[in-house]
Amino acid sequence: MVGDEQTKEAMVIDPGDDIEEVMAVVQRYGLTVKQIVVTHAHIDHVGGAMKLKRLTGAPVLLNQNDYALLKMLDVQASWIGMPTPEAVTIDASLDTGDKVQAGSLVAEVLHTPGHTEGSICLYFSAEQKLLAGDTLFAGSIGRTDLPGGSYEKIMRSLRGPVLALPDETVVVPGHGPLTTIGIERESNPFLVG
Ligand SMILES: [Zn+2]
Repeated sequence: MVGDEQTKEAMVIDPGDDIEEVMAVVQRYGLTVKQIVVTHAHIDHVGGAMKLKRLTGAPVLLNQNDYALLKMLDVQASWIGMPTPEAVTIDASLDTGDKVQAGSLVAEVLHTPGHTEGSICLYFSAEQKLLAGDTLFAGSIGRTDLPGGSYEKIMRSLRGPVLALPDETVVVPGHGPLTTIGIERESNPFLVG
């Protein structure tokens, strides 16, 4: 969750589950959720989106190239042995050049296909932060062996828009510890050489 301390506007990124916990944070800080942004349509990133939308009225945003994956939530649920979540409907597509905003906090959308066709990253340039979804991790990159994945495309996304960001950018991956663009440029085994 990203929130503006002055205006109390917030966006929630990748509400996979545990919406009660998300709402507890919203209430604790007195926030208004303006947008629900989904970096890609894997169940652990989108499974709670409709519940959160019902509770907040906020629109759900996802790149349109992942709409096909969204229709496979039942299949995805069977992969990991969990019950099928309710169907997710999208209010608008996000693409490179779009911006998402919570109060004064503004992120540029980078379409970074590879982990999935519709994967996006969110770049908060003023805060020097990249919310990377499952495209880049500390010391690793997103898997590309699931439907819609492409190793060629994720490498193009990483060597293109992602590594174009400044070294000091803090990377907040969809899973695992924080890192920076500089550390990954220097030491990520998929990116060196
Ligand atoms: Zn994923």
